[in-house]
Amino acid sequence: MKVAVITGGSGGIGLAIIKNLAAQGFSAVSWDIHPPKENIPFVHCDVTSEAAVQKALHETTEKFGVPTILINNCGIQFISPVDEFPLDKWNQLISILLTGTFLCSKLVIPGMKKNGGGRIINVSSIHGKVASPFKAAYVAAKHGVLGLSKVMALELGEHNITVNSICPGFVDTQLMRLQMAKQAELNNISEDEVATEIMLKPACIKKFTTTDQVAGMVNYLISDAASTITGEAFSMSGGWGMGQ
Ligand code: NAP
Repeated sequence: MKVAVITGGSGGIGLAIIKNLAAQGFSAVSWDIHPPKENIPFVHCDVTSEAAVQKALHETTEKFGVPTILINNCGIQFISPVDEFPLDKWNQLISILLTGTFLCSKLVIPGMKKNGGGRIINVSSIHGKVASPFKAAYVAAKHGVLGLSKVMALELGEHNITVNSICPGFVDTQLMRLQMAKQAELNNISEDEVATEIMLKPACIKKFTTTDQVAGMVNYLISDAASTITGEAFSMSGGWGMGQ
């Protein structure tokens, strides 16, 4: 049975990916800092710690086998003007979003190489390609994830490992809901207006992307049809920023 690790799989996009892969017969394991509410394979892991990732990989390999699919998905958001952005929040976002992606990839890749191949998918964001105000650390980290993905794609092609990124616009999850209130405060508008005037205004299709749609893109990127696709970054944003 193929083993897939999904970081931050206890909720939101990661949980949808796990359920989708499990329904297809994969052992899909969440690496998260808190256990899921649902009954899915779970190994505790804080992706910012190399020792914790090493321990989670050991436990996963013992229980389920060597992971040949890695979805670097976990994340948080923090919103503040750049000249007020707290350093500890900057460091936390960079650690989780960028260093975590590096550490999980670094430690999982040797097993993939030994197994003759693998697939790494990094959940970046449309903010890996464009910027928005008040998201200094998030935008910097998500741009960094796309750069890291390209380096890994170059290094790992000869090992039959593809590395691609998914760049969602707005997806209705806890991460998105938490930032709505803060955006409303910073922009002095209601949460409904945050949805229409900030989150969906630059999009061609004024709808949030669903977690299942992101899981569908993962299905494609791990399929045989995508075996020669690497180093790419797929936007799933309703055409966010197309006219700017
Ligand atoms: P979510 O529902 O908040 O899920 C993220 C999960 O990651 C949570 O369970 C979170 O735990 C966990 N996590 C946080 N820090 C961690 C750490 N150090 N190690 C392991 N797990 C950790 O968020 P989501 O919306 O599904 O986001 C998933 C990914 O999609 C993120 O990378 C995000 O940036 C990206 N994305 C989301 C959107 C969107 O609109 N939702 C748009 C574009 C990109 P806690 O709940 O304890 O924090």
